[in-house]
Amino acid sequence: MKYFDKILIANRGEIAIRVMRACREIGIETVAIYSKPDKNALHVKYADEGFCVGDAHPSQSYLNMARICDIAAKSGAEAIHPGYGFLAENSEFADLCEKEGIIFIGPSAETIHAMGSKIGCKRMMREAGVPVLPGTEGGVTCVDDAKEIAAEIGYPVIVKASAGGGGIGMQIVEDEAGLEEAIDKGMRIAESAFGDATIFIEKYLQKPRHIEFQILADADGRTVHLYDRECSIQRRHQKLVEEAPCPIMTPQLRERMADSAVTVAKTAGYANAGTVEFLYANGEYYFMEMNTRLQVEHTITEFITGIDLVKQQIAIAAGEPLAFGQEDISIRGHAIECRINAEDPLNNFTADPGKIVRYRSPGGPGIRVDSGIHMGYTIPAHYDSMISKLCAWGSNRQEAIERMRRAIYEYVILGVRTTLPLHHAIMNNRHFVAGDTHTHFLQEEHIVKS
Ligand code: ADP
Repeated sequence: MKYFDKILIANRGEIAIRVMRACREIGIETVAIYSKPDKNALHVKYADEGFCVGDAHPSQSYLNMARICDIAAKSGAEAIHPGYGFLAENSEFADLCEKEGIIFIGPSAETIHAMGSKIGCKRMMREAGVPVLPGTEGGVTCVDDAKEIAAEIGYPVIVKASAGGGGIGMQIVEDEAGLEEAIDKGMRIAESAFGDATIFIEKYLQKPRHIEFQILADADGRTVHLYDRECSIQRRHQKLVEEAPCPIMTPQLRERMADSAVTVAKTAGYANAGTVEFLYANGEYYFMEMNTRLQVEHTITEFITGIDLVKQQIAIAAGEPLAFGQEDISIRGHAIECRINAEDPLNNFTADPGKIVRYRSPGGPGIRVDSGIHMGYTIPAHYDSMISKLCAWGSNRQEAIERMRRAIYEYVILGVRTTLPLHHAIMNNRHFVAGDTHTHFLQEEHIVKS
């Protein structure tokens, strides 16, 4: 069943191609949008049709809601897939699509809006009985009250933007002397980055693991989880390596966490694909936030469950009931993803856009490459530096690591600096091999400086 005749993909790079691949398999025509510098990008070549959406700056192109809806109408696309980033978690855009009679492939505008507030979402989930980290009940309005709460929960604490994302504005505060300044700075950053100065404070966990659950829910509220992913290998609170399932998961912990994840989705009235993120430390887990979109790392869940998440998203958006229940979903083997960014690991990971003069991608058993680049392609400086996702599957974790090492060895990208050497170091680190990681792993192992 193909559900729609034509879908517009409001994104670029690897994720636009990923969505188009699902469409091609089920016979749906695809419409690409592109900014001026992306005229010859791979996602435009892959699509059945392409329309220029505007200038390089995202506000003129991939974030230009009215223009994107116009192109959807002009091309006859019935639905829009937003990918991740750009408009994927923009409730205004989901709302606009609905008003224009275009199906937004994702949850409802109301759900996106509600989950977009970390404070509101945390409060809602605490009331539903899901464990959350102790902290301020709502936004910080008064420094003295904040000091009182921080003293109660104990330092260190973390200051976070309620509307935040991408790790922006998060600050760790070691003692009371630093709190006022962190609050002021947090508010300033939150206002300029997200247009909302609301910040909150919660207990800072020293060496937690980031563990998340993939959710699928249909329009009638049937909700299943597709197991866990471990995403603790991060730099500046941004994920670099993910694996599925989480290497330290036990059946008991999985049952508790999965139960909480499904509760989160049901409490949110969630429909479509989403991710429930937790922090885990000392045997306890805490709900952090729900991401109302397809994640970068959805690929490894596809590897271990055999379920195509993009096809599921399309079916759910078309109003189809989930074709399987929880008992039909099981884990097979182990999968790892390495994010390949055009960044210079030796120069504080500054973006290194430019022309790819030599390119050869890996292959063979258990390897999946999702990329938006090719030989001779010039990576524009205007967008995200992630150029490729390298994923490896193995019948167990050891085999997945061995295949990833072999694929890193095979992968040739010349002309720009990439994170490939960093992934080589991670895959050969004995603590990583033992599954012994946490969110400060890269710094502690001196793989990165900050
Ligand atoms: P964002 O939405 O900006 O990406 P998240 O709330 O998802 O921020 O957190 C991103 C990362 O920041 C987490 O994976 C974790 O490494 C770190 N982090 C966030 N909150 C805490 C906390 N309370 N204690 C320790 N680390 C945290």
